[in-house]
Amino acid sequence: MAFSAELFSTTAVRGGLRPDPTTGAVLTPIYQSTTYHQEAVGVHKGFTYSRAANPTVSALESALGALEDTPPAVCFSSGMAAISALFFATLKAGDHVVVSDVVYGGTVRLFQQILTNFGVEASFVDTADPQAVAQAIQPNTRLVFIETPANPTLKLTDIAAIANVAHAAGVRLAVDNTFLTPALQRPLDLGADISLLSTTKYIEGHNSTVGGSIATRDQALIECLRVVRKTLGCIQSPQESWLTLRGLKTLPLRLQQHSTNAQKVAEWLEQHAKVARVHFPGLATFPQFSLAGKQQALPGGILSFELKGGANAGIQLMNTVRLCLLAENLGAVETLITHPVSMTHGDVPREIRERTGVTDGLVRLSVGLENPADIIADLESALTAIEITEPKEEVCLAK
Ligand code: PLP
Repeated sequence: MAFSAELFSTTAVRGGLRPDPTTGAVLTPIYQSTTYHQEAVGVHKGFTYSRAANPTVSALESALGALEDTPPAVCFSSGMAAISALFFATLKAGDHVVVSDVVYGGTVRLFQQILTNFGVEASFVDTADPQAVAQAIQPNTRLVFIETPANPTLKLTDIAAIANVAHAAGVRLAVDNTFLTPALQRPLDLGADISLLSTTKYIEGHNSTVGGSIATRDQALIECLRVVRKTLGCIQSPQESWLTLRGLKTLPLRLQQHSTNAQKVAEWLEQHAKVARVHFPGLATFPQFSLAGKQQALPGGILSFELKGGANAGIQLMNTVRLCLLAENLGAVETLITHPVSMTHGDVPREIRERTGVTDGLVRLSVGLENPADIIADLESALTAIEITEPKEEVCLAK
């Protein structure tokens, strides 16, 4: 799929938005108001209380809906709030979900530490294999939940193939599209029913907010998500929505440059003598390179890699880099380097991590918008400084 930042540029800047009807302000103002005057009992302008809806949040929902080609999305206080709300809206005690075996660690924690107490069961399955998904679906399965590319190994799932498998069994498919956003991958056009984003990442893109969204063409599900959100009290704040609206305007441009920069860094890392392997969908050596070409417009801006010295070397590298900031989060203008096992995936049981390649030495890099030559120079000097010894397994920092 050829990508040009122009493809979604008009939608990203203007989609779903209009000047503020009361003042003409070109940007929707931050409506920092808890409540709204009602002209008479039951007579109001569509807003009653900001836990249910807020005009600034509604503007972001229209903009994201335009980008996803759906009715207005439903926005939440975080990506995890969006995922939790999806499960509250679609599952009840006794239900079962098929989940990708490589997903953000918070999603695993949600199932293993919370939903299990409510009688909801999950099977973590290699969703790169449609056969395995078909076999994992049970009579009580209500949802297939995939993340592609997956955090942090970048494993891909064929969205169209899994949509066929899920729909043949009468089950909905939800896709966590956080790593690519609808500018680079279109889950709903590929057959999925639900597209979910942590807007904390590329959508807002500047390390300034925490938020999430869900888009779907199923109006009944939208209504249900709004009821869940109002009841749990997990709507996004107007301030976060305003910043996210501003970030959204440059999304296609940023993603194109993130992707170009990540490609350069991945190619450089791959040829480095101290690097054992690089996971990046834009490398010809990536096992699912052709699937990436089929369903993604670009490879995206995230990669992960392992050093020849295993965990000891990886940790030394993360402690030595200077320009690349050692931090959680991804998808922002600053290059962030992350140790999944001690940070984002610390609550994923060791057995699942080992089975899925989330090794103790895995390093995740969210390639930012700095000059890629500077990012490479930083990695180069850190790699030169570190000592590669035989891998030792006992350095593990997590459970
Ligand atoms: N989905 C993915 C793929 C993520 O990487 C993350 C967080 O890193 C989340 C969801 C959760 O998003 P948030 O941190 O906004 O709650």
